[in-house]
Amino acid sequence: MVLLEAGPVVRPHEMNEEAGLTLAKHFFENGLRVARGNIYMPTLQARVLGGGSVFNCAICARMTDKTLTEWRVEHGLDWLTTDEASRHYRAVEDLMGLRPTEAEVMGERNRLFRKGCDALGWRADPVLRNTSGCRGSAQCFTGCPNGAKASMDRRGIPELLDAGGTVYTSVPVNRLLRRGAKVVGVEGSVAGRPGCSVEVRAPVTVLAAGALASPLIARASGIEHGALGAGLRFHPGASVLALFDHEVAPWVGASQGYHCLDFCDEGIKLETLWATPELMSFRIPSAGPELSALLGEYPRAAVWDVIISGEDSVGHIDRFGRARYDVALGDVRRMRDGMAKLAEIARAAGAREVVSGLRGVPARLPADSAAEVIRQVPLEVTRFPMASNHVFGTMAMGADPERYAIDASFAVRGTEGLFACDTGIMPSSPRVNPMLTMWALSHRLAEVLADRS
Ligand SMILES: Cc1cc2nc3c(=O)[nH]c(=O)nc-3n(C[C@H](O)[C@H](O)[C@H](O)COP(=O)(O)OP(=O)(O)OC[C@H]3O[C@@H](n4cnc5c(N)ncnc54)[C@H](O)[C@@H]3O)c2cc1C
Repeated sequence: MVLLEAGPVVRPHEMNEEAGLTLAKHFFENGLRVARGNIYMPTLQARVLGGGSVFNCAICARMTDKTLTEWRVEHGLDWLTTDEASRHYRAVEDLMGLRPTEAEVMGERNRLFRKGCDALGWRADPVLRNTSGCRGSAQCFTGCPNGAKASMDRRGIPELLDAGGTVYTSVPVNRLLRRGAKVVGVEGSVAGRPGCSVEVRAPVTVLAAGALASPLIARASGIEHGALGAGLRFHPGASVLALFDHEVAPWVGASQGYHCLDFCDEGIKLETLWATPELMSFRIPSAGPELSALLGEYPRAAVWDVIISGEDSVGHIDRFGRARYDVALGDVRRMRDGMAKLAEIARAAGAREVVSGLRGVPARLPADSAAEVIRQVPLEVTRFPMASNHVFGTMAMGADPERYAIDASFAVRGTEGLFACDTGIMPSSPRVNPMLTMWALSHRLAEVLADRS
């Protein structure tokens, strides 16, 4: 088995807490990629061995029965029964060493979220994460300097090497090699070595370059299917700062230690978050003295976020490879509701003020009335500063050959020997953070491929 990865290996001692540098060095388009539509929505994709798992917050969550049933019934994934899904989830949960975020690394930012949820009668669960030895240094987004995250480069790739596999890094794949319908391998280049190309021939090829890249590689290789690059979905997200009278030191504690899953089936998921001020800057727009005063408040701020299912919004990848995406009204409503819920948590936790970043409302709202004010914000998408790192659906998997580019066994329609396995195959929003489900789907594909050989 040979794995080709566009980016380099990054080791824990090479992680850089400076978010700008990390984005510029290790993310596609230097971390400035946006989806264009009725708003500009930043969307990050890592370009390193291990992909998003190296820079994400290791949140692992199973999809709810509602979503599993949708995928089985509406998209025709007959094999995806609750029992079968559980079997695949369990296998990867064991492999990746999932455990609830430990109380001792929560920090005040996470604890206040729990306190607010408790007061409201909502359930805040410690996030299940693929970590071991977390020190609560809140640097998940720029890469764990302690090597505490079981990202794919640290769990999965070593097992592949042990099993006799080979990994080539800094080798971006440009196209698939074909003999008629049969895919016989890939052709790539070598980063930093102009003119140097690589060919790998294989009886089976798995396309797994991420939801925004895989359809482009397929199209560049002459594979034609109406659903390729269509069906683009996101989980738009937004944040609030809850300002307290006491020191919160939000840079201490697990980046995302608690979440509330009570509203997932309504398409709203609430989470704690730590992101450095420069990462937060587009979400909390402000300038000059106002920004300066706000940064002065950071030590007393708890940062929390909401992600919504995005189930009413569908975009596509245009012919230049750009993501085109409009956030639909139903999702703007979900976002407003989710942000109001975060404001409720802030009030219940004893916050003084709430900073929402919403356009057209005062920058700081008294915590007592913030939720009501947010609920009155007109449902105009441009008022809501959203970003999303969860991307799906661009090579969706399903039973109907017309609607889906990938069949229920992961095979790319119209080809032989080509399979797809990244979040692009998800037929609709998973409504929770996608990584665990992606691993579970990969486990299923591994079995499909083992059965063939
Ligand atoms: C900052 C951030 C935080 C997140 N937090 C969470 C979280 O806590 N929990 C969660 O569930 N999800 C989270 N996500 C989302 C999650 O990380 C992604 O959904 C997941 O990594 C997607 O997996 P994938 O395999 O589809 O794509 P990726 O992880 O993007 O992997 C694709 C790989 O293919 C490589 N590649 C791309 N093009 C080529 C090419 N032409 N040739 C060779 N290689 C190529 C890329 O470099 C990359 O390594 C987060 C994402 C980000 C960016």
